[in-house]
Amino acid sequence: MNVFDRIHVDDYEQVVFCHDGATGLKAIVAIHSTVLGPALGGTRFFPYQSEDEGLEDVLRLAKGMTYKAAAAGLDLGGGKAVIFGDPAVDKSEALLRTYARYVDSLGGRYITAEDVGTTQADMDTIRRETRFVTGVSQELGGSGDPSAATAYGVLWAMKAVARRLWGHTTLADAHVAVSGVGKVGTHLVRHLVEERARVTVADVDVEAVARVVHDYDVESVEVEKIHALDADIYSPCAMGGALDATTIPELRCSAVVGSANNQLASPDGDELLHRLGVVYAPDYVVNAGGVINIASELSHRGYHPGRAYEQVRRIFDTVGTVLDAAAADGIPTGAAADRIAEGRVQRLRHVHDIRTFG
Ligand code: NAD
Repeated sequence: MNVFDRIHVDDYEQVVFCHDGATGLKAIVAIHSTVLGPALGGTRFFPYQSEDEGLEDVLRLAKGMTYKAAAAGLDLGGGKAVIFGDPAVDKSEALLRTYARYVDSLGGRYITAEDVGTTQADMDTIRRETRFVTGVSQELGGSGDPSAATAYGVLWAMKAVARRLWGHTTLADAHVAVSGVGKVGTHLVRHLVEERARVTVADVDVEAVARVVHDYDVESVEVEKIHALDADIYSPCAMGGALDATTIPELRCSAVVGSANNQLASPDGDELLHRLGVVYAPDYVVNAGGVINIASELSHRGYHPGRAYEQVRRIFDTVGTVLDAAAADGIPTGAAADRIAEGRVQRLRHVHDIRTFG
C-alpha cells in the first residue's frame, strides 16, 4: 500500500510506525483528526496476517472515532492504534510499557484506551509510562471497564427509537432480540429486563447464553435465527458486519439498535434498511457511551460516574436528532449521522485560528 496516497484520501493527520526489536513491538498509531481535540481511541492487539491488513484496520478505526466523538458532542478527535501479534502469546509488560513510551512521545495528540486484545490491566500498565491513557482502573482514578456505560447508552438509544416508533419512551412489552451477550450485551439484558421488556438472546458461546437465561429468565434462540426473529428491536451486540445483503432482507423487526461496531457489512446496507422501512440507529451514535464515559476521565474535575452517565443519557437526544434529520431530508439514518458528525468538524475547524497571547 502506498501510505501517503491512502492517508491523503481520508485526510489523516499522522500515522506513526513504532518498532522495538528487544520486545518485539510492532505497532501503528493513526491520528485521523485533532480538530475537535486529542485523538482518542483504543489499542487493538491482533495477529494481523499482513502489514497492509493492520494498517487498513487502524486507519478505518481511527476515522470512525472522529465520527463517533464528533456526533457525541465530545471535544475529542479520532485516533486508534494497533499492535501486531497474538495477545495471548506476545503481550508482555515490557512490550506494553515500550508501546506506552511511543504514546507518550505524541504529547497528548493521541490518547489510548482498551480495545480488542487489550484489557483494563494493560491500560494500568501503560499508565506507568504515560498519562495519555484512559479506562484505567478505579484505584488509579480511572473509570474502569466502559461496557456498562456502553450498554446504558444503547438503552437510551432504544428509548429514542421507541419514541419515534410508538410515541413513548418505555420499552415495557417491547420484544428485543439481543445478539451477543458478552460484556455489553449482558448489561443491556439487565437494563431491558428492569424495563420489563421481553428479551430473546443468542450467542455462539453456549455458556454465555445459559448464564444470561439463568440470571435474567429470558428466552434464547440459535445464532442463525436471532436477526430474523419477529421482534420489535434487533440489537447486534457481537461482532461487526451483522447487517449484510443476506440478513437485512430477512429482518422482521421495526428497528436495529445495538452496540456492535461496523454493523453494516457494506455502506449500501444503510440505503437498503431505509428502503425496507427498518429504523437503523447508527452504530457509532448508539455505542458512544463507552467513549463518553472514558472521556470524562479527562475532565479537569476528574472522573465522576454520575456526571459521566448523565452525559451518556444524552445519546437519547443525539439519536433523536439523527432520526429527525434523516426524516426531514429523506435520507438513510447512517448518512444523516455522518452529515451531522462531518458538519460539526467543519464548523469548528477554524476555532483555534483565533490566537490568544495571555
Ligand atoms: P465481548 O467480546 O465481551 O462480547 C461479544 C459476544 O459476542 C461474546 O459473548 C461472543 O461469544 C459473542 N459472539 C461472537 N460472535 C457471535 C456471533 N456470530 N453471533 C452471536 N454472538 C457472537 O464484547 P463487548 O465488549 O460486549 O462488545 C460487543 C460489541 O460492542 C463489539 O462489536 C464491540 O466492538 C462493541 N463495542 C463495545 C464497547 C464496550 O464498551 N465494550 C464500546 C463500543 C462498542
